[in-house]
Amino acid sequence: MASASEDFMKLRSGYLFPEVARRIRAWQERNPGASVLRLSIGNTTEPITPHIAAAMREKVDQLTRRESYTGYGDEQGDTALREALSIHYREECGVELPSSAFFISDGAKSDAANIQSIFSHSSIPAVQDPAYPVYVDSNVAGGHTGGYDEESEGYSGIVLMDADASNAFIASPPKAHADIIYLCFPNNPTGAAATKSQLKAFVDYAHRENAVIIFDSAYSDYISTPGIPRSIYQIEGAEDCAIEIGSFSKNAGFTGVRLGWTIVPESLKADGEEPGLIHRLWNRRQCTFFNGASNIAQAGGIAALSPEGRRECMSLVGYYKENARLLLEGVGSCGLRCYGGIDSPYIWTECPDGMSSWDFFDLLLDRAHVAVTPGSGFGRCGEGFVRISAYGHREDIERAIASMKENL
Ligand code: PLP
Repeated sequence: MASASEDFMKLRSGYLFPEVARRIRAWQERNPGASVLRLSIGNTTEPITPHIAAAMREKVDQLTRRESYTGYGDEQGDTALREALSIHYREECGVELPSSAFFISDGAKSDAANIQSIFSHSSIPAVQDPAYPVYVDSNVAGGHTGGYDEESEGYSGIVLMDADASNAFIASPPKAHADIIYLCFPNNPTGAAATKSQLKAFVDYAHRENAVIIFDSAYSDYISTPGIPRSIYQIEGAEDCAIEIGSFSKNAGFTGVRLGWTIVPESLKADGEEPGLIHRLWNRRQCTFFNGASNIAQAGGIAALSPEGRRECMSLVGYYKENARLLLEGVGSCGLRCYGGIDSPYIWTECPDGMSSWDFFDLLLDRAHVAVTPGSGFGRCGEGFVRISAYGHREDIERAIASMKENL
């Protein structure tokens, strides 16, 4: 008899964003005709830019002709895209990574979820609290944790690294031992960006504990503060203890197109193993379970990394950063304490008067018709906060700010 996965069944109720969507739908049914100003999900809204769109159109044309048609590509990704990424890291981050270290994917989320599968079940994961939910949920579903414990508000067997106002939302390495450490900077949901010395502390920890860092750099192009690293490999020694996951979603607007990458250096070491094993296992995993990213998306990715493409991406990022600046100013002027929003599209906003995240979510929806994301959905340290997203058309962002100013 087939039986369902016990590990999947350990996962608690609805995933955060479907639950937000469910509550918004229920509110709309109660308030027919009223429209919701959405500052909730981190979904891009602005169109794909001309140079990048032209490259994808050209690829579609090639696919329509017998002489230029191509089917499956390499599971690791198009060589030209892997080389372009290697050059991009050299030119923009000053780090040397061979193109063979890059594995192209259909986005950062699936890689962030799948990477745990190449580590042993006994590997102890550590995540910042609050965190993008995929890190915790994939480790639960992958059998790396115990069940949910109501009292400690977390899954047993997972080390939580508290990120709160006392440490400016950047956790320190844990006191306890952990084997796989998930970091995301600029951070979703808090918008915090880590300095070199803060990241160095994690690299030192990883060396000391024989741990591996999984660094999610999906928002690296939002960094404008001088000196903030864009890649974990800007920290000395990271190439033998860190995997980095990147995405074209938030800079090229590929949330729907789907394209990302994961860097697994051959020099990476896992506890007691020779360098190269983790690289080989990820290669094996991709070749076995993945048939390569869309060739149309990859043509777009190559164009996004060209000088013209980079200009376009940074102009798109600039648009959302200006939204974030307006939100920081506008939400702040309502008397709410805000964090993040400078090197990030997210503004981490403290709920007023000690309200809970979901209570403030309901109040914002009822009074201002603005939807945000309750911080408690990202972990217990997110309680008492909401995440405000700068993804939206400028006029909608301005309407939401005006509504909050008028109704809060
Ligand atoms: N990583 C972080 C931290 C994110 O916030 C998101 C999306 O919101 C992703 C990854 C997903 O990226 P992708 O669209 O490439 O799957």
